[in-house]
Amino acid sequence: MLAKDTYNIATDVTFPPFVYANDKNEYVGIDIDLMNEIAKEEGFKVNIKPIGFNAALQSVTSGQVDGMIAGMTITDERKQKFDFSSPYYSSGIVMAVSPKSNIDSLKDLRGKKVAVKTGTSGADYANSIKDKYGFKVVTFDDSDNMYNDVENHNSDACFEDDAVMNYGIKTGLDLKVVTKPVNNANYGFAVKKGENQELLHKFNKGLAKLKANGKYQQIIDKYTGAKA
Ligand code: GLN
Repeated sequence: MLAKDTYNIATDVTFPPFVYANDKNEYVGIDIDLMNEIAKEEGFKVNIKPIGFNAALQSVTSGQVDGMIAGMTITDERKQKFDFSSPYYSSGIVMAVSPKSNIDSLKDLRGKKVAVKTGTSGADYANSIKDKYGFKVVTFDDSDNMYNDVENHNSDACFEDDAVMNYGIKTGLDLKVVTKPVNNANYGFAVKKGENQELLHKFNKGLAKLKANGKYQQIIDKYTGAKA
């Protein structure tokens, strides 16, 4: 198949520091900068579509977009449907609660309500332990609404990637993390399994170049460094 010059790339709506809208309503973050810099390095264009995590998963598997970058965890289960790039970050899953809450472990969740984001590894994790710990799961389409539900005391806790939860709390969310990260795993750019292999190849080549020339580290520092 002929290589395209513009690729449609789906992403999440609110997943800082990886992807979020800044105060000028432009999409920025580690994932957006990486994608743009890799496109520049490898000489292709990208059309970034912030449609939400679960919608992005579905758009890739249905072939509506060429790929996705959305703080997406590389898992064996997802490898049945997606091909992943080399890893560009890693994170585990933590539980966050209201600062006033006295929940401080999974054992305290009996009879409680836990907010998760549809399609995420945090949601899978919650569903895998809900019977054991006796809690109910409520789902949201984006992280913002999930956090709000806990901040407003509708839900008692949420599960989120630690890299994102810690950043959110540092930048003003009224939540606290009460567990150590579990299921630590890598993030990767993804295409539909067996499709868009030239794009995957270019992503990997570009990422390797950005790692070698220092730009990768500059992007990470820009969003997670002391000045972030
Ligand atoms: N890393 C998590 C996952 O892959 C969450 C991603 C996200 O919410 N954008 O499921």
